[in-house]
Amino acid sequence: MHTNSKLIYEGKAKQIFAINDPNQVLIKFKDDATAFNAAKKAKFKGKGILNCSISTNIFEYLMANGIPTHFIRRDGDSSIIAQKINIIPIEVVLRNTAYGSICKQTNLIPGTKLKKPLIDFYFKNDILNDPLLTRERIKLMEILKDEDLNFIEQLTYKINTILKDFFLNIELDLIDFKLEFGLNKNNEIILGDEFSPDNCRLWDMKTQNVNIKSLDKDRFRNDLGDLIEAYTEINKRIDHFMSSP
Ligand code: UDP
Repeated sequence: MHTNSKLIYEGKAKQIFAINDPNQVLIKFKDDATAFNAAKKAKFKGKGILNCSISTNIFEYLMANGIPTHFIRRDGDSSIIAQKINIIPIEVVLRNTAYGSICKQTNLIPGTKLKKPLIDFYFKNDILNDPLLTRERIKLMEILKDEDLNFIEQLTYKINTILKDFFLNIELDLIDFKLEFGLNKNNEIILGDEFSPDNCRLWDMKTQNVNIKSLDKDRFRNDLGDLIEAYTEINKRIDHFMSSP
């Protein structure tokens, strides 16, 4: 950990520290897990390190494929250094397969493959319980201009194309994921937050057994057990893929 680090924000799964460079922050991945807007909480020893490792690899891969992100470098086991950004209070969810909340709000059967990817926007606001947004509501609240929302949407589709193929290589089916974007010091929209099994769904294509195919936070949400084992397996497959010639 850097000297002079001052905690500036504590989230459910990460802490953000100010460091000497005012345009950068240190982000530490915690072992804490929450679900259902923190109604359910637990600690998983080693989750912070695993998510830091997974997210580092994914962000490096995305950047190598032309996606602008806040990531600068890994800093020790469970932290990264990133550009300081102003987070846009919208959670961008992309779905390839229907699962989770969409199945409670529509008549789609869990596991239905969507004909094309669907993007849902949610208001990042714990007090309001992160409600589903419409484009018109985003405009009404003056969170983003239409052109910026379009840019974020296009970037999200591109990220999906890159990552769906990436995960296919290691026999993981990318069901859905959540992204957060922010504005850096040059007012550019870049990808922030993290990409880990805490905020995506990954199903093991090596099995059809519903009790073991979820290798993501559903192991905690749905009391399936073996969360660390699942995250370790993802980390291992990514490491193996990234280090093979
Ligand atoms: N997600 C997230 N943070 C949230 C809500 C959802 O990271 O506050 C992720 C979740 O892990 C999943 C995707 O977004 O990969 C879609 O989640 P969904 O809307 O189905 O909600 P959930 O089933 O988590 O209630």
